[in-house]
Amino acid sequence: MKIGFIGLGNMGGPMASNLVNAGHEVTGFDLAAPMPAGVTKAATAAEAATGADVVITMLPNGAILRSVAAEVIPAMTKTAVLCDCSTVDVDSARAVAKQATAAGLGALDGPVSGGVGGATNGTLTFMVGGSADAFETVKPLFDIMGQKAVHCGEAGAGQAAKICNNMILGVTMIATCEAFALADKLGLDRQKMFDVVSTSSGYSWTMNAYCPAPGVGPQSPADNGYKPGFAAELMLKDLRLSQQAAESADADTPMGQLAAALYTQFVETEDGKGMDFSAMLPRFEKRGRG
Ligand code: NAD
Repeated sequence: MKIGFIGLGNMGGPMASNLVNAGHEVTGFDLAAPMPAGVTKAATAAEAATGADVVITMLPNGAILRSVAAEVIPAMTKTAVLCDCSTVDVDSARAVAKQATAAGLGALDGPVSGGVGGATNGTLTFMVGGSADAFETVKPLFDIMGQKAVHCGEAGAGQAAKICNNMILGVTMIATCEAFALADKLGLDRQKMFDVVSTSSGYSWTMNAYCPAPGVGPQSPADNGYKPGFAAELMLKDLRLSQQAAESADADTPMGQLAAALYTQFVETEDGKGMDFSAMLPRFEKRGRG
């Protein structure tokens, strides 16, 4: 296929490389990032989109996505599909899809989980909103860039799945970290805590697969000085998106709200910026109730 790829940063770069390595013809545009080997550099986003069967965007936020979409939609071939893989607010995803479908294009929101490692190794998970036809068109590309693509529903459903998942992730990471810090103060050995909880009703992905306690459980960023992994500021971005969506949909999400407030404090006024999101554990360790 002919693919336009806009936003070739930490995630978009390796995703575009995997498409090139699978034999697709990729034209890219980025304001700053270099083109990966084999990607033809375009002078503008519209130029990258012209003549493409599928245009993929991998951008920082919803405002940038909206401005890039406004530029590329008029340049795209009718019947082509605009597929945004960034993590953005549900309202922006829906607005861009509406604009694209009104112009006769297919439109998908396909945010990912799996991080830079997943982008590099082609093992991302895509959660996708949009029409079944557009999903079928882009599915072969999802299969190259990832190991799984779930069609979640209409426009915005992919972003909804992503932020709901990450709201659970943020809340459970905090719960796991505060429980470890309490266990410490009660004199409970961390390995014993892991042995019990990882096979009891308190188990979770954050305990079993990404344990925030160094030296306990499988290898995780905790064993590497809390170097990310998944940075606390990216978790904060997703928690803020979940709260924005909750406000827009009038949903009561008290735990998500508290998780967003805690990660805001951690990233903006404490030492969390640049640390993995599991570094909440040393944060709790240092504190008392006051
Ligand atoms: P990044 O900052 O490395 O890449 C974004 C790229 O977009 C940059 O190279 C930037 O120059 C480019 N860009 C910005 N404005 C542009 C414009 N108007 N036109 C063209 N290019 C423009 O970020 P990233 O880590 O690659 O993340 C991209 C998206 O993926 C984000 O929405 C992020 O939330 C999501 N995501 C990231 C991860 C991760 O672990 N990094 C995991 C899952 C999802």
